[in-house]
Parts: sequence; structure tokens; C-alpha cells
Amino acid sequence: MEYSHRYHAYPTQELAETVEYHIDVHRQAYNFTRYEYTNHNDADDVGSAYKHHDRLTDWKDEFPVFTKVHSKALQRTVTRFYQNLSNLSQKKQNGHKVGMLKWKSPREFQSITYSQSGFELKNTSGRRATLWLSKIGEIPIRYHREIPAEASIKEVTIKKETTGEWFVSFGLETDEADLPEKPDVDALNMNNSVGIDLGILNYIHTSDGNSVDWLDLGDEYEQLRREQRNLSRKEHGSNNYEKQRLTVAKIKRHIRRKVLDYQHKLTTWLVREYDAVFVEDLDVKGMLEQSHNARSKQDAAWRRFITLLEYKAELYGTYVVQVEARGTTKECASCGVETAKPIWVREHSCPSCGFECDRDANAAMNVLQRGFAELGLGWPENTPVETVLPTDSHSVSAKRVIETGSPSLNEATAVAE
Ligand SMILES: [Zn+2]
Repeated sequence: MEYSHRYHAYPTQELAETVEYHIDVHRQAYNFTRYEYTNHNDADDVGSAYKHHDRLTDWKDEFPVFTKVHSKALQRTVTRFYQNLSNLSQKKQNGHKVGMLKWKSPREFQSITYSQSGFELKNTSGRRATLWLSKIGEIPIRYHREIPAEASIKEVTIKKETTGEWFVSFGLETDEADLPEKPDVDALNMNNSVGIDLGILNYIHTSDGNSVDWLDLGDEYEQLRREQRNLSRKEHGSNNYEKQRLTVAKIKRHIRRKVLDYQHKLTTWLVREYDAVFVEDLDVKGMLEQSHNARSKQDAAWRRFITLLEYKAELYGTYVVQVEARGTTKECASCGVETAKPIWVREHSCPSCGFECDRDANAAMNVLQRGFAELGLGWPENTPVETVLPTDSHSVSAKRVIETGSPSLNEATAVAE
């Protein structure tokens, strides 16, 4: 199983200049690969990444600048060109109109990748660590998320963002054999499994009565609007425009990072807390409940939430199952009778059996039942819904999730992310 972890990096001014130099040498290598590919004839060792790697010895003789960078990383840059080439032909096959691969300007080429060797993650303690890169040196990183012990690091990419910030991204792989086993399906029950309603008012609502708030990003969005207005007043292409463009990019990045961090914490909590997590299938959910405009934005956030949930489920040995979303809100979790419910009605009150509860709690209960059905488990018929619904349901603020890394009220189970 392959996945990646990304961290903020803090090279010193001197190191940053060294990395920038390396990136530029790699950019020239990329452009030179493109040049040789475009002008080659059949006799040349060109045409595939593998063959093209053999050209590197000649390159180094001819252009000593290529000896200044790590040779495996240089191979990786040649490979990058061929990957782009194959992506392009893929697009073409899918009917897109595509041109040629372009020469890369410094602005378009901002990262290098060390593959297999020439790097080491060192001095991991608490939230700090250093990344050693051959021919570059040691770069401090903010190690906010641990790399699992059984994962192996396949490659490391260091990148300078348009905001001027540095990031490193570790490409990780964990052998299937090293992944924890999922519990026996028959061992799943209402105490160790959870249904989740992807909410509108709350971010999520669980079948055991937790509702977790969405992040309040009001201040951030206000700031973004203000800086975007400022940008629109600057003369396009001027120094001030460039400066302001950076400011806007920084705020956007800040928002993105905050959301991602939040989703990491929530999903880690879910897969550690439960043996099975059931969520609604987004394709239907989105169409049913959101206006068109709000939908795509929210959809993208939920999609990533589920992607994170699924990959962490593998790492922690938890079932994650997507269930049919149609009717989860209308259907009564107690008797199954459907009642239309406008979006502003926040209570579920069943005209047929009289069952009453919060609208989202009812939906989450339905998701749980459908999850059990999906795994071939029956819903114990003699268990009235009331007994599994918590009487002391509580709402957890986003602030709490950020501070403790978990919406759980029990500090002992709070996860450090
Ligand atoms: Zn009912």
C-alpha cells in the first residue's frame, strides 16, 4: 500500500540557496532530457527513462554541473520527463487536445525527488526531525505526524511553494503483510462500530451521538477576501502586484493546511476508536442535499475525508464501508417508514411509530444499519433503537479537535497526530 506524508521544512537561508541551486540544475537536466528526446534518432540511447539513464555519464563529462547533484536524484528527474510524456499520451487517448511537453522555466520547476538513496530521516523527537539529503545537508522539518514504524520510505520530494515556503513529502509504502488484521466481521457490534452522517450544520454526526463541528474559518475567509480586493487594485505585473499575489497564495495555503490537518485528526480518531466505520456514498448524497454551488466545494472536502479514512483504515485494521445514501434522512431508524423532511426541519419525529430524535442522529443510525447489512450482518430485531441511542449525546467543537487531536471527551483516548 502506497501513501505519502508531507511536512513543512525550514532550511536556513544558506541551505535554501543550495536547494534552489540543485533544483535549477535538475530543471536544466529535465529540459536537456526533453531536448535529447525531441532530437534523437533510433541509434541513440533515448526513448525510455531506463535507456536515457545511461546517457548521464556522458552528460557529466560534457557538463560538469551535473556532477554537483546526487546522481540517483538526477535519474529521477529524467524519469519525471518520461512520466509527464506518458501522462500526456494518456490524456490524448482520453480525447483531450494536447500539445508537446514544454520547456520548463524556473517558475514551473520547483521540486526535486530523491529516490531509493541519498536521503535519511534523522533525529525524530516530538514534533521535530531533520531530513538529510546527499550533497545538500540537513534540513529541519516540523514532524507533526509520525511515519508508521512498518512503513518504508521510497522517496523524498523537496519543494518550494509559490509562497516561498518549503515542504518535504515522503513517498511511503507498507507491505500488505505488515498491516494489522481486521477483526472478525462477527465481532462487530453497536459498541465498536459507528455510522456517520456527513453533515450540513455539523461536520459529522455519529450514530452514538457525537456531533463534531466544522472548522470556523470565518476570519480566514474574511482576510482572504480583503487581500483579494487589494490584489484587484494593483497594476497587473507590477512589483506590488507580485507581492500581493504572494500574500493571497499564503492565506489560501494556510486555509488548505488547516482543513487537511483537521481532517487528519478526525479520521485518525475514527479508525482508532472504532472497528468499523460506515459512511454515506457521496455521489448520491451530494446530489440530494446540496445546492449546486455549495456542492462541489463540500464534495471535494468530503471526498478527501473519505480517502483519508480509507487509507488509515488499512493502517489501523478498521473496516470502512460506504453505503447507499438515498433516503438516510427520510427513513425512520426505528421502523423504516419514510417521511419527507425539508432541510430546515432539524428533528426527526416519526408519524408512524412515534420515534423522535435529532435529524442527523437518525440519519447516522440508518447509515450504521446499512453498514451492517452491507457486511452481511443483521440488525438485532429485538433491540429497540432507543436503547442504542445515547441519552447524553454531545457536541464537540472544532477547537477541541484541533487542541487534543480528537473529539473524544475521554483524554486517555485522545490521539496525538
Ligand atoms: Zn418510525
